[in-house]
Amino acid sequence: MDDALLFDARARVLADLEAREHATPAAVSALEDAVSTRRWWAEQWPEGEVYVAGLVAQDVQDALFESASRWPLCLSCEDAPQHALYIQPDLGGPDPVWVCEESGQAVAELGQLREVTPPGRAGPTS
Ligand SMILES: [Zn+2]
Repeated sequence: MDDALLFDARARVLADLEAREHATPAAVSALEDAVSTRRWWAEQWPEGEVYVAGLVAQDVQDALFESASRWPLCLSCEDAPQHALYIQPDLGGPDPVWVCEESGQAVAELGQLREVTPPGRAGPTS
């Protein structure tokens, strides 16, 4: 098991938590738990490495959902009730992306939510 992979997974999920101002102590603690669980998991099944980052994101999402907190919310759809993004592929990888649960559109690669500019907030304000 390559530790760099886990550090990368942790960094990407943390970046996406921060991108949505959701890096609360509870969320970071859920992230630490997910990383250590998935470290054990990947040691049992080394071929599963490509799934680790997406699975960590899903674990954190599940943990937050249990505390009635939805992350990450979709900012791309206008005129839609509040809804979330989920990791695609469902297995967690390879190349996990956030997909809107309403539109099915890929929104950002895991770790890149900060780069997403919601409609209506883009462009110069004149
Ligand atoms: Zn959406």
